[in-house]
Amino acid sequence: MKKNHLLVAIRSSKQLHRHPTAQREVPLVDSASPIDIRLILEAHMSKLQQANEHLVISALQAQMMTKEIQKAKDRMGHMAHHDSLTNLPNRILLKERTVQALSLAKRHHSKLAVLFIDLDRFKTINDSLGHAAGDKLLQEVAQRLLDAIRSTDTVSRQGGDEFVLLLSEVIDEHAVSTFVDKMCRMLNTPYFINGQELHVGCSIGISMFPEDGDDAETLIGNADLAMYHAKKSGRDRYHFFKPEMNARAVERQTLEGDLHRALKNAEFEIYYQAQSGLASGHINSAEALIRWHHPARGLLMPAMFVPIAEESGAIVRIGRWVLLESCRQMQVWLVDGMLLDVVAVNISALEFGRNDFLQHVRDVLRHTGLPPHHLELELTETVLMKDASETMRTLSALHAMGVRIAIDDFGTGYSSLSYLKQFPVDTLKIDKSFVAGITDNDGDKILVDAVICLGKNLGHRVVAEGVETQAQLEFLRSHACLEGQGYFLGLPMVAEQFLQSLKLRAESGVPVRA
Ligand code: C2E
Ligand code: MG
Ligand code: MG
Repeated sequence: MKKNHLLVAIRSSKQLHRHPTAQREVPLVDSASPIDIRLILEAHMSKLQQANEHLVISALQAQMMTKEIQKAKDRMGHMAHHDSLTNLPNRILLKERTVQALSLAKRHHSKLAVLFIDLDRFKTINDSLGHAAGDKLLQEVAQRLLDAIRSTDTVSRQGGDEFVLLLSEVIDEHAVSTFVDKMCRMLNTPYFINGQELHVGCSIGISMFPEDGDDAETLIGNADLAMYHAKKSGRDRYHFFKPEMNARAVERQTLEGDLHRALKNAEFEIYYQAQSGLASGHINSAEALIRWHHPARGLLMPAMFVPIAEESGAIVRIGRWVLLESCRQMQVWLVDGMLLDVVAVNISALEFGRNDFLQHVRDVLRHTGLPPHHLELELTETVLMKDASETMRTLSALHAMGVRIAIDDFGTGYSSLSYLKQFPVDTLKIDKSFVAGITDNDGDKILVDAVICLGKNLGHRVVAEGVETQAQLEFLRSHACLEGQGYFLGLPMVAEQFLQSLKLRAESGVPVRA
């Protein structure tokens, strides 16, 4: 013990607990009386008590902080596994649950179903009513899905308007179908968001364990693929996964790869199909239609590759080539003395929406020397209606250049009649699906007749597409449709053949034009 120090037992509860005989030295002032010593002792004791209290408080605070940290950790864990908008499990948790469900199903030899759900027309709702309404709708959909399932099943949101359901212990496909029918009825009941009544459909793809895969990734991927097929075949329906779907997906991927070298290897060719005067039978114009001579698969039609080219973006380069080649060919025919009105070129949405589209058209016309009024660009209603003010600007600029505009497949998209009046459009092409029905379907008759009148009254050229029979031709003629295009009037053919058919008609007395 130091000199002038007194040994004092410490009454700290904690220390006493651990070291019942804990002692501490306190300084002793020289020549202190016993009273002084008592006072000193008391002062030290109260300091010790205070220190003790601080210690207890700190310990409590530390305990509370640990709880807070744990809570924050839990929250972060929850956030990492849940979707913030709907609070449903996200794709990470779905995968974990699928892995668990799979191991159970394998042990019990039971079946599982994975449902990939994509809302139809959600983007339209989101764009027209705003994101806040879109979010509310997604939350409502999430709730209805939760109401539809059993507690052993999982509903997850994959992002956007995509949800995945994991159904455990299902009996067979039939039982899944029954569930899906019930769920669709729940989802299809109108939604009331911000005072608006909304109707939402959905496309669903379904994969089953063990038939369609035995790991989470394959099952979810195959359900996604089946959903894509459901969407393609007209929305608002469900498809069970079939192995051929995978084959088609692989084919798509291969074609997408092949498309990249197709331009470089000059594998594309343009066919020309006549647009003829229905009264006289003479060829007025030609539509340029692309074909692909695939080195391994032979001649491919646009339906086989244009959608893939649109999705991958390759359509921009392909479309540029089509425009250049068709304008070059048309100018050759005109210089040769062929009296053709226009070459019509199909333009896809991606091309039309590009900033450099106008400049490209200008460059092509300058490069080929084709007078602008001999070029007609075919656009669908959907492309035109995408962004009306932007469309208006582009169309006006094209019109100012002298280029003509046609609305392709008229009647199949949705267009606003007021825009139809405002847009500088020159030609309406009546879709072939209506023409196909004009001889025996009253609805089609009325529709075709109405479009002919509408076009005429707006001062447009009207061309009926897909004329395949004499009877259709007669109907169109008697309803004062002046022009048509179709197998009955002329098949799409390569440039050389098209020229021959032009010459043949001229020789046989049918004037090349009116
Ligand atoms: P579209 O622009 O509506 O072209 C008319 C389609 O109808 C052509 O199909 C043509 O061959 C076909 N057709 C012609 N007459 C008849 C007939 O009497 N009956 C029937 N059932 N069909 C007839 P094709 O050549 O297979 O082209 C299909 C679509 O692919 C075109 O439809 C067009 O949207 C697109 N397309 C074609 N070439 C191009 C292109 O160079 N660029 C872009 N972006 N799309 C193209
Ligand atoms: Mg067309
Ligand atoms: Mg068409």
